[in-house]
Amino acid sequence: MITGGCFCGTVRYELEGSLRNGRACHCSRCRKAFSGASSAYAELAEGSVFTWTAGADSVTRYESAEGWALGFCSHCGSSLCGLFNGDVHGLTLGCVDGDPGVAIETHIFVDSKAPWDHIGGDAPQFAERPGANE
Ligand SMILES: [Zn+2]
Ligand SMILES: [Zn+2]
Repeated sequence: MITGGCFCGTVRYELEGSLRNGRACHCSRCRKAFSGASSAYAELAEGSVFTWTAGADSVTRYESAEGWALGFCSHCGSSLCGLFNGDVHGLTLGCVDGDPGVAIETHIFVDSKAPWDHIGGDAPQFAERPGANE
């Protein structure tokens, strides 16, 4: 069972299942959405069941692109999840308690990274998306 929640503790969730495709996107949109060097995000694996266990009515959805939204706590501002057509699509790894069972597997949109960002680790880096420029 994966659990997590926001900074102020109002919103809590649990995930029965697992996460896949952990990634850090360094594009300017993700840097703003995550208020950091990049996103840190992983998708719900097929068959996983996501449940808000506290504070569901405090989750505000910001529609960032057609069909896509970011769910964040309306009290403390923690970004909690990505939604697609209203369903939770993935989780922000920073709000997961303990080990989410997935690591950053790719750095994407590295050509757009912030000038102060130093990407560590040995996960492959892509100028844009994997396969876009090869
Ligand atoms: Zn909060
Ligand atoms: Zn991005």
